[in-house]
Amino acid sequence: MKNLSKALDYLKSIEEPHSIDGIISIMKDITNSVYKLNIEAIVFLSLNKKNINIWYKNSTIDDEFILSISKSTIKTKSNIMVEDKYSIPLHARGNYFGSLMICNKKQLSNTNKINESKDGLNILVDYFSLLLYSEKLSFQANTDRLTKIYNRGYIFNYINSLYIKNKAYSIIIFDVDKFKHYNDRYGHTVGDYILKKLTYKVKIMLEKSYKFARYGGEEFMIVLPTDKKNIIIKTMENIRNTVSKSNFSTDEYSLKVTVSIGASVGREDKDPYQAIDEADKALYMAKESGRNKSIFYDRLS
Ligand code: GH3
Ligand code: MG
Ligand code: MG
Repeated sequence: MKNLSKALDYLKSIEEPHSIDGIISIMKDITNSVYKLNIEAIVFLSLNKKNINIWYKNSTIDDEFILSISKSTIKTKSNIMVEDKYSIPLHARGNYFGSLMICNKKQLSNTNKINESKDGLNILVDYFSLLLYSEKLSFQANTDRLTKIYNRGYIFNYINSLYIKNKAYSIIIFDVDKFKHYNDRYGHTVGDYILKKLTYKVKIMLEKSYKFARYGGEEFMIVLPTDKKNIIIKTMENIRNTVSKSNFSTDEYSLKVTVSIGASVGREDKDPYQAIDEADKALYMAKESGRNKSIFYDRLS
């Protein structure tokens, strides 16, 4: 029990925001240092509950073996012991969403260690399940389904949090030019493909500290943790050039795409909505002046 409370204290101290991989890595450390056991695999059920996938694996154990034990664990909603391997279901709020496989650290053939720690392990894994489940929910709530980047709700909250903390930031909004034309002429599937490819191209060129979100249909927003005009203008031009130089062709059609871009700076004396509004106005000016342009909002202009 002393081991268990030490392990739980450790898990409780994880601060937000955490990633699924971050939680798994902490859980691995705890199991290893407190119980001298290894986490061998973590398996998740897909959203439609039809497939199971190995999310994490740390051994030479055969994938087929992991998947078959995991399947039974999730199906029977109970722990399964096979030789020195112990498989425990991950569940929270009545949902069985995956399983975790533990093994003796030195892969010993005896199961003493696991048997000794079984009660503690089960409680620990229950707690771990809750953390993972809440992380999965918040990931779904903050992510745009089509493009897999942040959604509007997330980016609003993020801007607000910067404003409250008096942090310097800037907002870039860009909108695909004449996007309706692509849908009307080539169909919605091609429209969706363009949005996904464009997101990927822009995402890989942005700094890690920039937050990138789908703001509306074919409108995107980037929040930069800086108010430096030269950086903002350089980023806008990089986005514009990246998109206009990319090839969006499909098997059937040869396609090019452009975007119009507006940006503004957020300050402590400026309401975040005003900052968004100013970036929007700059975007409108970019559209008005012929599209495939980027404009920085200046009070003087
Ligand atoms: P502008 O250069 O002025 O921005 O012209 P536009 O045609 O891009 O502007 P408009 O706002 O008239 O049209 C946007 C279109 O984007 C309309 C809508 O059908 C399409 N759209 C919005 N969301 C999606 C989506 O998720 N998938 C697809 N395929 N189309 C979308
Ligand atoms: Mg548009
Ligand atoms: Mg639009």
